[in-house]
Amino acid sequence: MFVKKLKKYNLPDKDGFFGEFGGAFVPENFKKVLKRLDDEFEKAKNDDSFLKEVYDLLKDYSGRPTPLYFAKNLTEYYGKGKIYLKREDLNHTGAHKINNVIGQALLAKRMGAKKIIAETGAGQHGVASATAATLLGLECDVFMGEKDIKRQHLNVERMKLLGAKVHSVDTGTKTLSDACDAAIDYWLRHSDEVFYVLGSAVGPHPYPKMVRFFQSVIGNEIKHQCLEKEGRLPDYVLACIGGGSNAIGAFYAFIDDSQVNLIGLEAAGEGVDTEKTAASLAKGKKMILHGKRQYVLCDKNGNVGESYSISAGLDYPGCGPEHCYLHDTGRAKYIPVTDEEAVQAFARLSRIEGIIPAIESAHAVAYLEKLMSQTNENDIVVINLSGRGDKDTERLLQLLV
Ligand SMILES: *Cc1c(COP(=O)(O)O)cnc(C)c1O
Repeated sequence: MFVKKLKKYNLPDKDGFFGEFGGAFVPENFKKVLKRLDDEFEKAKNDDSFLKEVYDLLKDYSGRPTPLYFAKNLTEYYGKGKIYLKREDLNHTGAHKINNVIGQALLAKRMGAKKIIAETGAGQHGVASATAATLLGLECDVFMGEKDIKRQHLNVERMKLLGAKVHSVDTGTKTLSDACDAAIDYWLRHSDEVFYVLGSAVGPHPYPKMVRFFQSVIGNEIKHQCLEKEGRLPDYVLACIGGGSNAIGAFYAFIDDSQVNLIGLEAAGEGVDTEKTAASLAKGKKMILHGKRQYVLCDKNGNVGESYSISAGLDYPGCGPEHCYLHDTGRAKYIPVTDEEAVQAFARLSRIEGIIPAIESAHAVAYLEKLMSQTNENDIVVINLSGRGDKDTERLLQLLV
C-alpha cells in the first residue's frame, strides 16, 4: 500500500523545503543527527522487506486497510452528493497516529536504537508510541507538560500500563511546546541509542517527509477503494489539520490529480477574529518554530502566540510546512471551523450515522454544512475520520445539554 511510483510533485527538495517553508533550522550537532536519520529513512523506504514489515503490522495489528464507508444516512440527510468516511477511527488505539508510530518505531529498531522517546500534548501520540514500543520490545519515555498530565489523566495511566515512563515537564507554559523542547534536549544528549518518534507532519527535515510517507497509506487506500467502489476518483477529500499528519496522509496520493479538491479544516476555536483560536493558516505569520519555517500564530509583540481550540489534538500555534506550501500555491484550501460548529457536528454524526467521531475529526465533518449546498448530485466527498470520540464524550456531553 505504499505507492512508490514517480510523481510530478516531488517536494521537499534535498534540504527539506516545500517552497519557502520547512527546512532544518537547528544547531550543527543536531544537523548531523538529522542527516543520519534522513539517510537511514531513504534506505529503509526503498527496502521492500522493511515496507513489508511495516505493512504486515499495520494490517494484522492495527487493522488496515481501514474501510472507506459509504455514509448512506448522512448522504440522505444532505440530499446531494455521495459522502464517504475513511475509517481511521477503527485503527488500534483509536486514531491514525499508529500508522506513523509503527513506521518510525520499526525504523528505530533498524537503526539499532534501544529506546524511543516521544512528546505528547493530549496523550494520544504518547499512547500510540508506548503501544508500538511494547510491541517491538523497545523502551519508551514520553515527555509531557505538567499541566497536560493533570488534564489528561487517563492517557497518562494508559501509557504507564503499557510500560512507558512519563516525564513531567515543568518549564514554560508546561504544555506541548515545552514537552517538544524537553524531548529534543534529551535526544541530543542520547542520540546514539535513542530514536525520537515525532507525532505529526512538523519538526525539522526529514520529519515532515517521513511522517507523510508513513501516513500516505491513508490516501493510497482511499484512491484504490474509491476506484473500486465508484470507478473514479473523489471530487473532494476533507481532513482536519492540527500539525497536519492525517491531512497530508489523505491528500498526498491526490496532489497530482488536480480535479480532486483537497480541503483542510483548521481549528478556529472561538473564531478567527478572537484571541482564542488555533487557525495558523488563516491568521499566522511566516516564522521559524521548532526547527522549520511555517505560518505561526503571533501575539501583539510578534512572538509565538498561544493557541486555543476545544480539541487538544488541533491546539497548536503552527501547522506543518507542506500545508503552508499547499495553502500558498492554492493546491489545497484551508478553512477555519469553530468549536461550536465542531461540537454540533460531533453530535450530528453520532445521531445520524451511529459513529462518535473524535472532536478533531468533527471539524472536518462540520464543513459538510457549507460544502453540501454547493455540490452536484454525483459529487463524491471523502472525509478522513481521523479518530474515535470516546475520549471526548464525557466532556462534550456537558456542552450539549
Ligand atoms: C492528533 C490528532 C489529530 C491532529 O493531528 P494531525 O497531525 O493534524 O493529524 C487529529 N485527529 C485525531 C483523532 C488526533 O488524535
